[in-house]
Amino acid sequence: ELPNIVGHVKFENLVFEYEKGRPALKGIHLDVKAGQSIALVGHTGSGKSTIMNLLCRFYDPVEGRVLIDGHDIREVTIQSLRSQVGIVLQDTFIFSGTIRDNIRFGRLDATDAEVEMAARAVYAHDFIAELPQGYDTEVQERGNVLSMGQRQLISFARALLADPRILILDEATASIDTETELKIQEALKTLLAGRTSFIVAHRLSTIRNADKIIVLDHGQMMESGSHEEL
Ligand code: ATP
Ligand code: MG
Repeated sequence: ELPNIVGHVKFENLVFEYEKGRPALKGIHLDVKAGQSIALVGHTGSGKSTIMNLLCRFYDPVEGRVLIDGHDIREVTIQSLRSQVGIVLQDTFIFSGTIRDNIRFGRLDATDAEVEMAARAVYAHDFIAELPQGYDTEVQERGNVLSMGQRQLISFARALLADPRILILDEATASIDTETELKIQEALKTLLAGRTSFIVAHRLSTIRNADKIIVLDHGQMMESGSHEEL
């Protein structure tokens, strides 16, 4: 179990390869204090998603370990890890069902009031309320009731409601209209507050707001520091 963690994350000498002889990570060391936000940047294939895959235990490292509040994540149940490490993926996952169900995904016990509170906090309530069926509007996995930006806000509301101590966010590269973009930036601040976060960052604003920026290249950490330092 991972009871009442604060969200201190430590990567110790992480080495990983998907295929023998082709290292994807070559010894990553990183100590992230509870509540810090980390932006991961680097070329395609540099290992950003791989680090996040190891933090989620989608794979185990070949060498080294990931510690959360001092616990090796291989020694805690997957269930407790999932409840403490939330993920918002680039290709935001919307399934066929109502908007309400999409937000409650992962917190099925949430009341309608809680769903609305989460949606309000990330600036999703207004556009939801404008839909003819509001929160009961049916959306499709690949449908076009929602714009890309709106899908992102829904996934933010979902993450906020799930309330994990550690949050991983693979930022979308899709172009989004300026108004929604501003909402997303504000929503992101709300979502990240008080959590340890790792963001595969594409937006300059996200990189600027991060406590620490990690630059990856071919599976190695080249630099780390704040926006001012780099
Ligand atoms: P991007 O910016 O394109 O998302 P990334 O920094 O997230 O790139 P990774 O996905 O971590 O990069 O990939 C690191 C290396 O591992 C690359 O060489 C990639 O080809 C390889 N790789 C990633 N996923 C797999 C996989 N499932 N099977 C085999 N090799 C993989
Ligand atoms: Mg990636």
